[in-house]
Amino acid sequence: MQHIVKAAGVAGGGTPTPEQLELIHRQTKTPLAAEELYVFSLRLCDDQPDRDGERFDAQALPALAKMLVGKTGLSDHRWDAERQVARIFDTTVEHEEGTSFIRAWVYLLRAYNQQLIDEIEGGIRREVSIGCAMKKRRCSICGAEMGSCAHEKGQVYGGQLCTAVLSEPADAYEFSFVAVPAQPKAGVMKRFGAQAGLEQAAREAGCWDEYRAMKSAAAMGQAQALRRRGELVRLGMALELGLDRTLLERMAAALEPEDVEAVCRGWSRCMRALYPGQTQLDAVPEHGGDDEFRI
Ligand SMILES: [Zn+2]
Repeated sequence: MQHIVKAAGVAGGGTPTPEQLELIHRQTKTPLAAEELYVFSLRLCDDQPDRDGERFDAQALPALAKMLVGKTGLSDHRWDAERQVARIFDTTVEHEEGTSFIRAWVYLLRAYNQQLIDEIEGGIRREVSIGCAMKKRRCSICGAEMGSCAHEKGQVYGGQLCTAVLSEPADAYEFSFVAVPAQPKAGVMKRFGAQAGLEQAAREAGCWDEYRAMKSAAAMGQAQALRRRGELVRLGMALELGLDRTLLERMAAALEPEDVEAVCRGWSRCMRALYPGQTQLDAVPEHGGDDEFRI
């Protein structure tokens, strides 16, 4: 299983159309008026190689798009007021200049998210990262499971760039807003530049394998943290603690990863005590299931 975290982009938005409002109401407990809501779209996961030398299989996008509906967004700002949450209510797979990509439509409540809305409206670029789990990661040159053949990501073979092709989505997790500094373009360029510089330095210093292992561990940790937050919410709902989903999501977003882990373990034990025979309800493996996150 491959747990993936990818960058994506935010586009401008506005008040929902009647059709969008109908879709939003499938995600909300109480009907909301169009004027209370702000919708915008995100361009997520396309089928082009990214800076990690990986790309999504275009055929995997429709299934992944479906899994993203209902997923919530976490902000790097601490969202501690009631209903400060963004949620995906619709996704489409779009095609543009030979590229296929998932567009996600997101709503948020105007009353609680004015700062974020202002930033989107103002065209301040933001990055969004999205976590998902993919079952397959194949070599683009020979089609073998990546790592089982001699081809290396980023190398060119007979004029063809080797990329890892991700397919068969298993799950999608929360997305998170990552603020980009006031000089958005410079900020983004610097990140790309720093990344490329590090890779160059690692290659030159002969510690490429160590660098790759570190990078992999970081991505693993990020994906795992996202997944654990989702599990905390699912366990909280399953245990019928009387806490609503929004509150559980805010809790999960506010806790440090190790605290999320501790809560998940504790609630898992409660689940097992309550439903001893039903192991499928035990969403969290006791020992972390780290093998699953190896990428
Ligand atoms: Zn290969």
